Amino acid sequence: MCGIIGYTGSEEVKNVLLDALELLEYRGYDSAGIAIKNDATQETNVYKCAGRVSDLRAICEKKRILSTCGIGHIRWATHGGVTDANAHPHRQGQVTLVHNGIVENYKDLINSYDMQDMLKSETDSEVVASLINHYYKGKPHEALKKAVRKLKGTFALVVMFDDQPGVIYAVRNVSPIVATICEEGAMLASDLTALCRFTNEYFVVPEYHILELHKDKIVLTDFEGNLVEPEFMEVDWELNSAGKAGYPFYMEKEIMEQPDAIRTTIESYIKDGMPDFSEAGVPDDIFTKCERICIVACGTARHAGLVAQALVKRIVHMHIDVEMASEFMYTDPVVDEKTLVIAVSQSGETIDTLEALKYAKKQGSTCLSIINVKGSSIARESDYVLYTAAGPEIAVASTKAYTTQLSVFYLLVAKMAYLRGIFGIEEVKSFIDALERVPDTVTKMLAKKREVHVIAKELSNIKEVKSRGADIVLFIKEELAVDLDPSYKVVTLPDIEDYFMVFPASVALQLLAYYVSSDKGFDVDKPRNLAKVVTVE
Ligand code: GLU
Repeated sequence: MCGIIGYTGSEEVKNVLLDALELLEYRGYDSAGIAIKNDATQETNVYKCAGRVSDLRAICEKKRILSTCGIGHIRWATHGGVTDANAHPHRQGQVTLVHNGIVENYKDLINSYDMQDMLKSETDSEVVASLINHYYKGKPHEALKKAVRKLKGTFALVVMFDDQPGVIYAVRNVSPIVATICEEGAMLASDLTALCRFTNEYFVVPEYHILELHKDKIVLTDFEGNLVEPEFMEVDWELNSAGKAGYPFYMEKEIMEQPDAIRTTIESYIKDGMPDFSEAGVPDDIFTKCERICIVACGTARHAGLVAQALVKRIVHMHIDVEMASEFMYTDPVVDEKTLVIAVSQSGETIDTLEALKYAKKQGSTCLSIINVKGSSIARESDYVLYTAAGPEIAVASTKAYTTQLSVFYLLVAKMAYLRGIFGIEEVKSFIDALERVPDTVTKMLAKKREVHVIAKELSNIKEVKSRGADIVLFIKEELAVDLDPSYKVVTLPDIEDYFMVFPASVALQLLAYYVSSDKGFDVDKPRNLAKVVTVE
């Protein structure tokens, strides 16, 4: 997985690319690079290094080149170590390229096209640059199509040709690219987070189509050469919502945004005190027809699924499995037309979840997904989608995406319990009433962040723990916090019905994790060896 950006327009491209890469850094952060075309000479300059965007920024600061067209990449290595040479962009002949994904047949291509001596890196990506260059005879579309037809695997490719001033080309299979055009120019990226500083409108580049970005227009064509009208979508994210808003880390900002994110998520699915998915086009009968439920997800989204599993078992009394999406296909999953498959993914691009969903669809299952990013691959592949309204989540550790996913599951459970005759109207309404109080409960929990911070500082006191045995910290419901051993450290959790305690409890633990990490001086938003969105298998 990695982050890709491309821009051609009126602004100085270096800053546009570096700012965007910083926003995409949660997708991978072992190397970074940009290629920019000198406006005066049309020469292509590549700056890249192993390390963070901040390292790349330091390198670029010294360079004074006026350029308004360029591409950038933040790498999460799959082929070849973390070195300057393996960082993208890669240049071969007339071609400068960045790539997200894995080209499985890269070794065959090296042999078939005699590339051994020309490659400067160990990556599969440079092989693609070389292949496109091999086919390039002044016609970008021809070269891209011929090269892409030889590739096996997943790819989002963004290419500049030396003799095509101001134009950027892109083509993809599975790995995502979104694009837009606005007053400042035309741009593309791996995801919306990098574009939403400029505009709320974007489209998903369809697979096996060629996108051309020009300064004042975009041109999309299919592989037969027919012009295709892009399908623009709008997000309601605020234009500057991807910034840190004065917080030292995205994680803290995102923790603090939870009351609003949960409120906005649930309010669009509640009518007259009842769960209602009609505006999202989700029909009631999918919840009554099914005999079993299978949740597929990875990472934190899977944990939201585990909470849902406990609720469904206890309240709806249905058979429900929670499958790790990356293992799904290898465990002979029992999914059929009587199974409701629920896929959960913040980005909607988690490749294992996407593949699991495709498999389930083939077996005849109805597929519903819970997604944060409109128009993402999983959303498009699903029969029905319920969107969370978390807004951009940049920190690798998921907080508001998790609690908004949970809130959608609570609505689903209420709906199922009602439709399957377990809850009467009054019971559903009181369940939903409690859910509507969750944002206030979370706000109360957040007001205690200093208390949690104090504990976070003491937990780090390793000497004390070693010499006197571990300290006991109680996160406990307010009403139960009586007559406690005075040696305990206590943080009371604001009261709400037991079923909903997961919300304040999760927020308390998010705060604890955040402060432990930030007080140790770690880079909270980018834990070592962990990327947020897994877009390669
Ligand atoms: N396979 C490519 C590499 O290792 C791209 C990986 C990515 O998507 O970040 O450089």
